Amino acid sequence: MAQVQIDVLLTEDQLRTRTRELAADIRATLADEPLVLIGVLKGCVPFIGDLARELSGDVAIDYVQVSSYGDGKTSTGVFQLKKDHDINIEGRHVVVVEDIVDSGLTLARLRELLATRRPASLTAVAMLSKPDARSHESRVEHVGFEIPNVFVVGYGLDHAESYRNLPFVGVLRESHG
Ligand code: 5GP
Repeated sequence: MAQVQIDVLLTEDQLRTRTRELAADIRATLADEPLVLIGVLKGCVPFIGDLARELSGDVAIDYVQVSSYGDGKTSTGVFQLKKDHDINIEGRHVVVVEDIVDSGLTLARLRELLATRRPASLTAVAMLSKPDARSHESRVEHVGFEIPNVFVVGYGLDHAESYRNLPFVGVLRESHG
């Protein structure tokens, strides 16, 4: 039977502190402009909630959902928009909120799409980034933590829809025996 072990990579405290810093960085860049946060479902959920609470001023929140992973641990490499945002972003300052940037495909395609909708500015924030996994050129203005090229779960990130509720980020290890 497969046994699952999760090794903590980033603690709840580390995530909380870094979220506060990221919110301050975003405000340092965009001053007190009204913002539209566009979260990438489903992994963004804990992060966008925590980030929004740390951001001062006028903050609207909306979501998109894209599919690239299916149930597995590797990207299918195909970008498909499953849910679009509702808020009109023309002339607004948009911040894309991602759980993790891996190959960069999702963010690269999303940025292209959102740019056609003529926002006043478009930036991206990701709690995690795997620079060694990057195969698509995609800008991420604000990164919480750079991590090695390992499969992680928790703080919104799943494996087959489980573990999103973990308050920390951990490395999933499956052993058979
Ligand atoms: P990308 O398009 O950058 O390759 O992948 C982005 C998406 O892949 C993320 O939003 C996330 O849903 C998923 N992903 C990438 N790396 C991991 C990982 O280590 N763990 C989990 N659970 N999902 C990941």
